[in-house]
Amino acid sequence: MAEALVFHSAYDPPEPWKAALEAELPGLEFRLSHEIGDPADVRYALIWKPPAGFLSFFPNLQLVVNLGAGVDALLSRHDIPDIPVTRICDPDMSRMMASFVLFAVLRHARDIPVFERAQRERHWTFLAPRCAEDIRVGILGLGELGTAAAAELVRHGFRVQGWSRTQKDLPGIHCASGMDALPDFLATSEILVVMLPLTDQTRHLLDAERLAMLPKGAKFINVARGPIVDEGALIEALRSGHIAQATLDVFEVEPLPPDSPLWSMDTVLITPHLASIAIPRSAAAQVADNIRRVRAGEPVLNRVDPVRGY
Ligand code: NDP
Repeated sequence: MAEALVFHSAYDPPEPWKAALEAELPGLEFRLSHEIGDPADVRYALIWKPPAGFLSFFPNLQLVVNLGAGVDALLSRHDIPDIPVTRICDPDMSRMMASFVLFAVLRHARDIPVFERAQRERHWTFLAPRCAEDIRVGILGLGELGTAAAAELVRHGFRVQGWSRTQKDLPGIHCASGMDALPDFLATSEILVVMLPLTDQTRHLLDAERLAMLPKGAKFINVARGPIVDEGALIEALRSGHIAQATLDVFEVEPLPPDSPLWSMDTVLITPHLASIAIPRSAAAQVADNIRRVRAGEPVLNRVDPVRGY
């Protein structure tokens, strides 16, 4: 019987994954979801949002690899067999995310939106630049991506604080944890960056009440998942000026509907969910390593905990 991996994604072209995985694992057959052949051959699934019921086609499936870091869509499915589920945790993906967060934080820290507006009005507007050391940036989520972004911001001199479920001890970063610490954390985050997974605990974590805890004029960056924030409450906070500026890469509904008020707010920068992506050239090694582990009966790395939700 052949040993095959099935690939499904509407966003990621299969060719680079095929080339990278075939180089890592000669002999492994790379099959597209519309050319599966004998489903019994398929041992591994590398997938991003396949149709409902997709995973039940394969009687010999041994490993599911989520083609990305966020597993909320995967874990809400009802067709996942009782086998290891892993996600992409790749240094190149972390670096891409850290550079996006650095860009967004610098843009706010250096008042670039103010100058963009002034330029449109042909108005010479001088605002004295502030030192990074005087600007407190709060990162919600100190996982693979949050930690990389926090370290990058520390490298640029920002006062960085991070919040997670369990307590961390990271060089140069003031670490807080748990719900009790959240009000204080929000109250002291002049620029807030959301880098949490979407789980039952984090859905609408940032509601009107918690957004009101941010300092007046705060800047808000969400590169994680839209539903972590109550979008209506965020829009109100932007309208009132309590939140002065936002950079939003993710939304409650994607693509962001054409009638969303966010589109026309000049205090908001919208990007279409691309802060970071899984990069086959580097991430294929990790997928291949886990396949070798499955073959050898060893535990896989970067396993998702379905109970925890991330
Ligand atoms: P990780 O799973 O590595 O880290 C998650 C972090 O969030 C951990 O520090 C965890 O705490 C913390 N956390 C989880 N639940 C809670 C909670 N209830 N209260 C407090 N802290 C909590 O995730 P990654 O860093 O790899 O990715 C983060 C998210 O980024 C992904 O889930 C995905 O949704 C999003 N993403 C967005 C992309 C984009 O292009 N916009 C691209 C890739 C990912 P602890 O450390 O204690 O477990």
